Amino acid sequence: MSAGLDGHRIAAARLFASTRLPYLASALFALTIASAPGCGTISVDPRWQVRADPFWVDKLEVDELGCLLIHLVGHLLRGHAERAGKAGVRAGHGGGGWNRCADAEINDDLAEDELVPRVAPDLPVNLGCANGAMVEDYYRSATDGARHWDCGSGCDNIPRSWDTEGGLQREASELLCLSVAADIQRHHGHWPGRVPGGWLRWAEQVLPSRTDWRRALAAEVRQGVASVSGNVDYTYRRPSRRARVTPNVVMPSLHRPLPDVAIVCDTSGSMHEQLLARALAEVESILSRAGLRQSQVRVLAVDTNVHAVRRVSRVAQVALTGGGGTDMGAGIGAAVELRPAPSVIVVLTDGFTPWPEQPPKSSHVVIGLLEEAGKPSGIFAPPSWARTIHIEPTRTK
Ligand SMILES: [Zn+2]
Repeated sequence: MSAGLDGHRIAAARLFASTRLPYLASALFALTIASAPGCGTISVDPRWQVRADPFWVDKLEVDELGCLLIHLVGHLLRGHAERAGKAGVRAGHGGGGWNRCADAEINDDLAEDELVPRVAPDLPVNLGCANGAMVEDYYRSATDGARHWDCGSGCDNIPRSWDTEGGLQREASELLCLSVAADIQRHHGHWPGRVPGGWLRWAEQVLPSRTDWRRALAAEVRQGVASVSGNVDYTYRRPSRRARVTPNVVMPSLHRPLPDVAIVCDTSGSMHEQLLARALAEVESILSRAGLRQSQVRVLAVDTNVHAVRRVSRVAQVALTGGGGTDMGAGIGAAVELRPAPSVIVVLTDGFTPWPEQPPKSSHVVIGLLEEAGKPSGIFAPPSWARTIHIEPTRTK
């Protein structure tokens, strides 16, 4: 038996999984998958690293492998490792039972799409529980601790001998979760009824739609940046150069262009300048956390005309000139004309502007709608082709 993994099967499984649940695609492609001969399972650690016994990769059908990848991603998105620690699970105590209960929390949603992996089949009913509860509830009432499948330290927080260093660190993992939550909400917006309720509740919990605009805005911008970065050349046909260095790691050869971001600021007389400055500062910090250099961010000050296009090194350098009427369509149009063309356009406005009917062809648009207490936000509804985040004034504490 070869110590390596069958990259074609892994690629096909990942493709099957992301085709069936497209809203989990960025999570599925964030997994790094490497060979762990003799570990007897296909498991995941809390840092998004899957370790797979080649025996099981060869034995399972591709669809089944795909279901298992979805299932393992479920453990990570739902933070099962961290929750296991809080529930008192530790080496030699409760790991198997926790694994079954965590499987049940994931699988009742997967059952709706007939995607429950046969090797890790537990449903709430198998634990004598009703659907839709949390792993902590199942864990309190379940008695049988013998797990069917070892899902790894990403499920129960107990290190495995085949775990390795590296992988996604905490901040990157949190941003990924936000981005997946935004994908889920977007998918649900386009195709109501397709996303199982458990995933929707999870997304709402991770990314409240109105209560915290910073998180929502971060997720949207991050999502735009990610969707452009992964645009989408995860091909396994050409081996990537790094794959030769680490022969056991299946890596897609991934073309990852650096996204360019344009920020279009409404500087018309109706704008609340303090709020705009605050929103700009927020966008700046989101972009730097997403790893964008400032040279890749351009800011346009717009009322009915486009006043300034400049690469800024600090947001404070943006002169909020203007003060006439407003047409954000002009701003989006000017942003699209920039070279290099921005892949993400963030529009900050109070909404008193008409909008273009059609989205720009190659840019992801995020609208930050600045709201003033007691005033309506805008007279024109923001276009449905953009994602809109309501930015609320700070409440007095
Ligand atoms: Zn599991």
